Amino acid sequence: MGALTSPRKVVVLGSTGSIGLSTLSLFEESGAPVQILALTAGRNVERLIEQARRWKPSLAVIEDESRLADLRAGLAGTGVEAAAGADAVRDAAAMGADWVMSAIVGAAGLAPTVAAARTGAVIALANKESLVCAGPALLAIAKAAGGSVIPVDSEHSAIFQVLQSECAHRVSRLILTASGGPFRTWDKAAMARATPEQAIAHPNWSMGAKISVDSATMMNKGLEMIEASYLFATPEDRVDVVIHPQSVIHSLVEYVDGSTLAQLGPPDMRAPIACAFAWPDRLPWPAPRLDLAAYGQLTFESPDVERFPAIGIAREALRLGGGAPAAMNAANEVAVAAFLDRRIGFLDIAGAVAGTLERMNSLGDLSVAESDAVETAMLIDGSARRIAAEVVAQKRQRA
Ligand code: NAD
Ligand code: MG
Repeated sequence: MGALTSPRKVVVLGSTGSIGLSTLSLFEESGAPVQILALTAGRNVERLIEQARRWKPSLAVIEDESRLADLRAGLAGTGVEAAAGADAVRDAAAMGADWVMSAIVGAAGLAPTVAAARTGAVIALANKESLVCAGPALLAIAKAAGGSVIPVDSEHSAIFQVLQSECAHRVSRLILTASGGPFRTWDKAAMARATPEQAIAHPNWSMGAKISVDSATMMNKGLEMIEASYLFATPEDRVDVVIHPQSVIHSLVEYVDGSTLAQLGPPDMRAPIACAFAWPDRLPWPAPRLDLAAYGQLTFESPDVERFPAIGIAREALRLGGGAPAAMNAANEVAVAAFLDRRIGFLDIAGAVAGTLERMNSLGDLSVAESDAVETAMLIDGSARRIAAEVVAQKRQRA
C-alpha cells in the first residue's frame, strides 16, 4: 500500500504511555511520512498537550472528562480539536486512519480497537488484553472489514515474522520467550513481601506499571499464551514458554521437521512497532543493532510454575474457553490495581485471579454464547470485576 512513500494517516490510541511514546519516537527517528489524525490518552493531559503541540493532529482526546477544560486551554490557538470521554476515544479510533496503534492498557482498549477494526484499518496491536477478551471476534471483524491485525507484542511480532503462511499447517509449537521478570530468582517468602516498586523495576524493558506487574507475576506470559493461541490459531498444548533472561530471542516457531526459526534483536519496542508500521516492507531507521559478542551468552531455563502459578491459570482459562480468558483478564486488572494500591500482597494477585475464575466457573458464568462475542466479553469483564473486588476484599481482611 505504498507504506513508506505516501503519507499514511495514523491514529495513536494511548499515545502518552510507554508504547505510545515509543511509537512517536519511531516516527521522529525514522522520519516516516505520517499524518496524525488523532492522539488519545487516559488522564495524562500535560503530556497529551505537549504531543499534540508537536504533532498537530486534527484531534486530541482525553478519556477522563474532568480534564477536558485543561486540554482545551492547553491547545488554544493550535487548531487541534479537543474532546473527552470513552465514546470520543472510540470515535477517534474510527476516524478513517490507514494505521491505528492500539496501545491503551487493559480491557479499556477493547471497544476502541474493535471500532478501528470495523474501519478496515491496519491495526498495530499492543493492547493484548483486547485479544484475550475477544480475540476470535476481533480478528473476524478486522478480516471482514478488509483490514488486518499486526501484533506489536515483541513475542508475537517475532512469531509473525518467522511464521511462513504457506506452511502454517506445518507448525508443531510456538515457543514464547519470557525474561522471567524481576523476581525470577527470588524465593516465595521474599516474593510474598515484594513491594510495587520492586515489581515495577523490570530488568530489560521500561513499560507501563500494569504490564510491569504482569511481568513480575508472569501473568504477562499467560496473557501472551492466549494472545498467541488466538492470533496464530494454535491450541493451548502447542504454545510453550521458555525463560530467556536476556530478552534477545523474542520467540520461536518449531516446524514438524524439527527446524526452529527465531527472531532476534535488542530489547526495544520500536523494533516491533517499525515492523507493524511497514509490513511487508521494512522501515529504515537508526535502530539499535544486535551485538551478540557483547552479550557473550544467551541462557534459557524452564518456568517455575509453582512460584509463578499465573501461567497455569492462563492455560486453564484457555482450555475452558468461552468467557474464561476475559474473566481472567478482568480479575487480573482488579488484583494488580489492588496490589499497586498496597491493598493486597504480591502473591495474592494470582490467588485472586484463580479465586475469581473458580467462583465464576462454579456459578456457570463462564459459558457464553458466540452471538455477539465482543458484547458478551464486555459483560463477562464487568461481572468478573465485581467478583474480583469481593475476592480482593476477602484477601485484605485476612492480611
Ligand atoms: P502505559 O500504562 O504506559 O500506557 C497506557 C496508555 O493508555 C496511556 O496513554 C494511558 O493514558 C492510556 N489509558 C489508560 N487507561 C485508559 C482508558 N481507560 N481509556 C483510554 N486510554 C487509557 O501502558 P504501556 O506499557 O504503554 O502498555 C500499553 C499496552 O501495550 C498494554 O496492553 C500492554 O500490555 C501492551 N504492551 C506494552 C509493552 C511495553 O513495552 N510497554 C510491550 C508489549 C505490550
Ligand atoms: Mg510481550
